[in-house]
Order: sequence, then C-alpha cells, then structure tokens
Amino acid sequence: MPINLGDSPNDAAWRLEVREFINENKGVFAATPDDAEGGMFGRMGAIKQWRDKVATKGWIAPSWPKKYGGAEMSVVDQFVMNEEFAEAGVPSNVGGFGVMMIGPTLIEHGNEDQKAEHLSKILRGEVIWCQGYSEPGAGSDLASLQTRGVRDGDDYVVNGQKIWTTGAQFADWMYMLVRTDPDAPKHRGITYLLVDMKSPGVTVRPLTTMANMQSFNEVFFEDVRVPVKNRMGDENRGWYVGTTTLDFERSSIGSAIGVKKQLEGLIRQAKKAGSTASFSSRASVRHEFVDRWVEAEVAKMLSYRVISMQAHGLIPNHEASMCKLFSSELGQKIALLSMHLFGMHGNTRNRASTGYVQAVSSTIAGGTSEVQRGIIATRGLGLPRG
Ligand SMILES: Cc1cc2nc3c(=O)[nH]c(=O)nc-3n(C[C@H](O)[C@H](O)[C@H](O)COP(=O)(O)OP(=O)(O)OC[C@H]3O[C@@H](n4cnc5c(N)ncnc54)[C@H](O)[C@@H]3O)c2cc1C
Repeated sequence: MPINLGDSPNDAAWRLEVREFINENKGVFAATPDDAEGGMFGRMGAIKQWRDKVATKGWIAPSWPKKYGGAEMSVVDQFVMNEEFAEAGVPSNVGGFGVMMIGPTLIEHGNEDQKAEHLSKILRGEVIWCQGYSEPGAGSDLASLQTRGVRDGDDYVVNGQKIWTTGAQFADWMYMLVRTDPDAPKHRGITYLLVDMKSPGVTVRPLTTMANMQSFNEVFFEDVRVPVKNRMGDENRGWYVGTTTLDFERSSIGSAIGVKKQLEGLIRQAKKAGSTASFSSRASVRHEFVDRWVEAEVAKMLSYRVISMQAHGLIPNHEASMCKLFSSELGQKIALLSMHLFGMHGNTRNRASTGYVQAVSSTIAGGTSEVQRGIIATRGLGLPRG
C-alpha cells in the first residue's frame, strides 16, 4: 500500500494560514534578500520586525503551553510552520535559546518564582540567554565538567571556565552546570544554575571561528556569587535538569528543510550560469547535484519519521541521531558542491567559501557525528559498546 505523506485537511488549512501570514509579512526582508535566505545572518532590524509580526500571532513559542503564553501547537503543526518558514526563506525559531531551550526547561523543572521571573521576559524577547555547558575538558563527555559551585550561605560561589558559549557576548543570562560535589559519581555531583551575566567576576572573551566570525566565546568565572534561589532543581541533581535542555536542543537541530533550501539555491545558480559555465555543465558536478538531491529527499524522510514518532507520543532516540547525523553531513557535502560548482571562484566568492568552512560546525554542535554514530550503533543496531 502506498504511504500517504500528504497533508490531512487540517494540516492543509494550517499550512495555508501560515503561508498567508508569510506572504503578508515577508516584505520586512525586501531590502535584504540575501540575508533573508540565510536567516540568522539577516539584518538585525529586519529580524526584529519579523519577530514582532510572529509575536502578534502568538507563535513565538510554538511548543509552550498556553498557560505560559505559548501557542501549544501539536508537533505536526510546529513542523508545518517550520517547513513553510524554511521554504519561504524567513527565519524560524526567532525566540532563540530562550524560547527553544531554557523556557521549556523552566516550565518542566523551574519553581513558580523562577517561572514568574523569566518566562514572560523570554516571550517578549527582553532577555538573551546563553548555554554554559561545555568546558575545555568536557564536551562530548559533558559529565566531566569541573567548574565548581561551592555553597556559602545563601549563595553558590562559582569558579571555573566555560567554552564555545554561543552568544555569551550579548547574553543577559546563562543557564549553566557546575560541580557541587566533587566526590560523588560524576553525574550525581552537578547542579543547574541560572546566572546573571552582569554578576561581578564573569568575564566573556569572544573566540574567532575559522569562518572569521565571533559567534562563540570563552566565559571565565572568578568568585561569582549566584543566589541559591537561582538553582533549578535540587543540588547535585542538575544533570537530569541539564539533559532535559539538551533534549530540546537535539529535537530542534539538523533541519532537513534548511539543507534542501540550500541545495535548491545552488541549483538555481547552476541553471543561471547555464552550459556556458564550465563547472555547472561538467558531468561530475551534475552527478554530484543528483546525489545530493536524492540524499536531501532521504533527509526529509528521516525527519518525517522523527516527527511522526513524536506525534504518536513516542520519544525518538537513535532515530533523532540518524536525522541529525545525516542532515548535518549532507549540509557539508552541499557546501563542498558549492565549491566544486564555482571552482577556483569558490575561494573568492564569499558565500561559497564562508559556507564551506561554516558547515563544519553543524557536525560538532549538539553532539558530534562520532557520538551520533555511537548512539545509532548501540541503541539502533544493538552492537556492543566499543
Ligand atoms: C557552532 C557551535 C556552537 C556551540 N555552542 C555551544 C554553547 O552555546 N554552549 C555550550 O556549552 N557548548 C556549545 N558548543 C560546544 C559543543 O557542545 C561541543 O563542541 C561538543 O559537545 C563536542 O565537544 P568538544 O568540542 O569538547 O569535543 P570532544 O568531546 O573533545 O571531541 C573531540 C573529538 O573526539 C570525538 N569523540 C568524543 N567522544 C567520543 C566517543 N564517545 N566516541 C567516538 N568519538 C568521540 C568527537 O567526535 C570529536 O571528533 C558549541 C559547538 C559548536 C560547534
């Protein structure tokens, strides 16, 4: 029996509503067409205007419960909205880390005071959050983190260093993991704290990536006093709170739609260049296009599988790893195709070469490709651990 991947009547009506909203409002990007396609690189002003339009519809926090100001959309409705946003080349996830990660974690684990203090500010876009997990000696093996939090009266005194902290240079708050019991087994001595980035003793030092961007930072903590009221969950039980946040990160990363859009953009450029361009007409490049196109379809099917599991109340595990692994590696292959398409010009064409070096990060952020392969090997295939 053929599998029906089409929209149900409800999905189709919702898709139309989203599409109409986009058509009415995407004019805010008219002055920056290139930027609109790249989403996060868009001019800040246009993105802010877009964000305000999304907010008027109440769509800033699609997954949050209505009680906390969210849209409480079903998984499928969120997917359809993201798909349409990506198709139109307008930014999705305009709420950033706040809406996507710390917000849902606060809703699940925060106390009423913490929810009252932070949730509405996140929704209104008044605060920027960053994630203080990775350290120089703790990335894939996050539970090895060493930044210390020592209880002193009504405060924790924090000392140590975080690294690769995206957006810390702009952030007002950080959610972070600290070690509060160095003698306990490593997953059991960790505590989750919410830290005001203006606290004395916090130093942010931007790191320049190989794409020559300053998107992430080192953050140093020297005797930083964090009130105990800013602890989420119990002392030494922060690992379990922290992994909730990571679940939200994993489910929002590795968008197959974004990858397909990237490929479609390249196909348009190759067609424009036509057969006069030596590279786009070469058999090897044409075959590369075809292979990437087939893979983009596979990536879409993998993401449909994850969404359909979630829609049926199942928790994707190695299936989410397959999706993340495949989409992020495909993104790199498409970036490589872009370099092949433009040949030597790829090095001088800023978007091709920048895209190529930038594509590396997607196979590291949110769990490296090797870690994803480990998950698929053990949990998916049942192979013994290496
Ligand atoms: C764009 C970007 C944004 C990021 N933003 C943030 C952020 O905002 N906040 C934050 O806290 N962190 C952030 N990170 C850090 C990210 O979470 C880590 O880089 C990632 O978890 C990998 O850790 P690591 O860099 O320490 O590498 P390591 O864990 O040291 O890995 C080094 C190499 O060893 C391999 N390896 C490690 N363990 C295994 C294993 N078990 N099996 C097989 N191979 C293995 C890895 O695949 C990798 O190739 C960001 C990273 C990137 C690239």
